[in-house]
Amino acid sequence: MKLKSTWHDQSTDSVTSSLATNMKEGLSSDEIIERRERFGRNKITEHKGTGPLKRFLLQFNQPLVYILLAACAVTLLLQEWVDSAVIFAVVLVNSIIGFVQESKALNAINSLSNSVKTKTTVIRAGKRQEILAEELVLGDVVVLQAGDKTPADLRLIKIRDLKIDESSLTGESLPTEKDVATLSASCLLGDRINMAFSSTLVTYGTGMGVVVYIGDNTEIGKISGMIATTETLDTPLTKRITSFSHVLLYAILGLATLTIFIGWLHGRPLVDTFMAAVALAVGAIPEGLPAAVTIMLAIGVSRMAKKRAVIRNLPAVETLGSTTVICSDKTGTLTKNQMTVTDIWAGGRNFSANGSGYDPLGEFSEGDKVTTLPAISAGFMTLKAGFLCNDALLNEPDLTLEKSHQQWTITGDPTEAALIVSAAKAGINESQLTQNRLDIIPFQSEYQYMAILNAEEEGNVVYMKGSIESILPKCIHMLDHSGAQVSLAHELIHQQVQEMASRGLRVLAFARKRTDSNTTNISHEFLAQDLEFLGLQAMIDPPRPEAIEAVKACHRAGIDVKMITGDHALTATSIAHQLTIVDDASGNATITGQELALLNHDELMQAALKFNVFARVTPENKLQLVKALQAQDQVVAMTGDGVNDAPALRRADIGVAMALNGTEVARDAADMMLTDDNFATVRDAVEEGRGVFDNLKKFIVWTLPTNGGEGLVILVAVILGVSLPLLPVHILWINMTTAIFLGLMLAFEPKEEGIMLRPPNIPNAPIIDGILIWRIVLVSSLLCITAFGLYELELSLGASEEQARTVAVAMFVVGEAFYLLNCRSLERSVFSVGFFSNPWIWFGIIIMAVLQGLFTYLPIMNAWFGSAPIDLYSWIRVFACGALISVIVGAEKYWRLKNKHSASQKP
Ligand code: ADP
Ligand code: MG
Repeated sequence: MKLKSTWHDQSTDSVTSSLATNMKEGLSSDEIIERRERFGRNKITEHKGTGPLKRFLLQFNQPLVYILLAACAVTLLLQEWVDSAVIFAVVLVNSIIGFVQESKALNAINSLSNSVKTKTTVIRAGKRQEILAEELVLGDVVVLQAGDKTPADLRLIKIRDLKIDESSLTGESLPTEKDVATLSASCLLGDRINMAFSSTLVTYGTGMGVVVYIGDNTEIGKISGMIATTETLDTPLTKRITSFSHVLLYAILGLATLTIFIGWLHGRPLVDTFMAAVALAVGAIPEGLPAAVTIMLAIGVSRMAKKRAVIRNLPAVETLGSTTVICSDKTGTLTKNQMTVTDIWAGGRNFSANGSGYDPLGEFSEGDKVTTLPAISAGFMTLKAGFLCNDALLNEPDLTLEKSHQQWTITGDPTEAALIVSAAKAGINESQLTQNRLDIIPFQSEYQYMAILNAEEEGNVVYMKGSIESILPKCIHMLDHSGAQVSLAHELIHQQVQEMASRGLRVLAFARKRTDSNTTNISHEFLAQDLEFLGLQAMIDPPRPEAIEAVKACHRAGIDVKMITGDHALTATSIAHQLTIVDDASGNATITGQELALLNHDELMQAALKFNVFARVTPENKLQLVKALQAQDQVVAMTGDGVNDAPALRRADIGVAMALNGTEVARDAADMMLTDDNFATVRDAVEEGRGVFDNLKKFIVWTLPTNGGEGLVILVAVILGVSLPLLPVHILWINMTTAIFLGLMLAFEPKEEGIMLRPPNIPNAPIIDGILIWRIVLVSSLLCITAFGLYELELSLGASEEQARTVAVAMFVVGEAFYLLNCRSLERSVFSVGFFSNPWIWFGIIIMAVLQGLFTYLPIMNAWFGSAPIDLYSWIRVFACGALISVIVGAEKYWRLKNKHSASQKP
């Protein structure tokens, strides 16, 4: 093996000989092992996006942190060392928490998306096989197909209409058309059209190439350190919180100035007024909020991953909760994608096949009689065409497994695998029918057919299979049962298709075209006419039972489910009916791509909402539909698996790709991946999304009254000109400990009953509506009144200033703990939620109790925080007030719920 410094200036022969490989056989397994030992795995060393130091420093770059830092500076100037140390500690702790959480969230998302590994097709030891991209070695022969991600840098040897999207590497947005000719050495990267570069996306055609660079030596590997990672943890919610904190920043600055002014009017010492301003500022800032939001979203990501939905973009977690329409593929997502041919029509005769799954054991019968198909008959030819025009593989059961797991399995497209099985039932298999493939046009959903050119003794023959619409118009006659050419029975064939499709069967038509041995390649033009019709094969693909349940659940949750499929309208309607996507099987709710094309803009808008089954659609139709639905305020989740689905996936609010059967291109464009390709998983993800959003809301409604109450306490004290019930250190103590040990426990709140029985969240509606704002104001006032009241009461009972302040702090902590129980549901009472259904809440409350004990009784804490031991009666008063707050909020909730019920009962 001789490595060259560049490969685009080498001829194809020189490439294969330098790398000691050959295009027919590929590498042998010994060579592969040897080369892997020598050059390592095809993996790019990971470069982190933004460096950790920078990300840590960015934590300080927030408006509210500026205020805290300013407060820290003010206390330093005033030589209030403890205060400035505590404030600084809070900033630091917050940044560390924020940093750690952010890193964790980023890593979780990265490793989740990487857990779905890129696969690639290679030729090794003369066999085509699918392997993980990281197992490639230099000299491996790789087969590329539309939808693939190029797994390493390849020198292309053979191509057919190959187009590759290299925007990730060169920034060029149009796909590059590839070629195999040798180029000059000076050719620049973007012009090296005889190369396919790692991580670029194949958008069209097919090709074969030899691996010339792997891992860090690939072009993408060389620059991966420089590529700006687009990961962001910004979501619509965090953005709104950021803009809320900007408003808060100005409000706080204004109030702080006011405090100093009033203090000056009262003629208080400057130090006191400044400390009051600092207390106000730190009190009004919800320090824990940003970190809490990230933590809760990250918890959502991992909960979804457990339900087999891998989130690639954090905002998707939130958006899922607002989804109003799910547009789903039929095959594989709503159905099992386990195809079995049951019916064949050919040469005017109907046959049925028995047997189950991919087990090739079975036989054909005509009527009730078992029959064999004569080798010249149209039926046999139909099966032969299905066998030859095929890229799937049937794998024998693994005899090392337990008996119950010994099953026939497949590699490749299930539709094609089913055709191998049906052919086998007529005795057609590899040993009996050698394949001599000269050329291929792979299946693409736009053309809806696939064709191959096979060299045979009497000349070369094209075999073709596809949808009835794509095959029949190209035919001029058909074969009959004795193998003779007869005139095409259009009517009869259409009747057959309708009969099969209306039973929910997926129907494929087969044809051939005989040519001479001079024809060695085929094109779409060549196949546009003069075909010989062979017959039809129809296969069942049963709906997934769990999908039926999931569709019903979506309907109850106010989410529309639409089936989008390339399949026949009748097949689609029948399956949609079985799935309860449509009520009647009459087809009133079904529209086809061709019909969509005839609609004007307004009609299209209406159709997008009205129809629930879209058959024979093209990828462009999908994009049109997404746009039409979004223009009507729908939040759209759209599934897709093909190359050309990428634009629709990008455009959809939630693009959903398949991890098992989808293409790399689709995955690249998606926000979420289903590791089981199952529709039910989308439903689960929506449910989790709603749960996360609920918990975020609960946290916000719980946390803001602390800040409101503290702000009010300070403001009232300043206006009245009395001593402050809370000092800055106290406020920071309250905010930090309660946010972590009380508030965050809401993240573990189980999803509320009936979460999938209410309509979706309204996108862009305020997170906190009028009712909740009212509640926040109510609780803020109650906290202010009780804390202030108890503070003054303690003083009047002869307690020291330290003791009275300790009581005020305790009032906030205990009040927030009681209120936490109210916040476990925003509408229902804590008793109906289940008092102990979230043990974390109680765990947090116990920890908080211990901390508050230390704060009150530990001498060193007394020294740091200026707290002091208080007696039992003070505690009793605090607990009574705390319980009172909880009861008042409970009553308010009860009253609203009652009003809501009686309102909904009115006509
Ligand atoms: P969907 O995935 O929505 O069921 P497809 O785009 O895969 O739809 O298929 C649309 C039609 O194309 C099918 O009804 C069938 O007639 C035809 N078809 C599907 N797969 C193949 C294939 N591998 N080769 C030829 N034709 C196919
Ligand atoms: Mg398909």
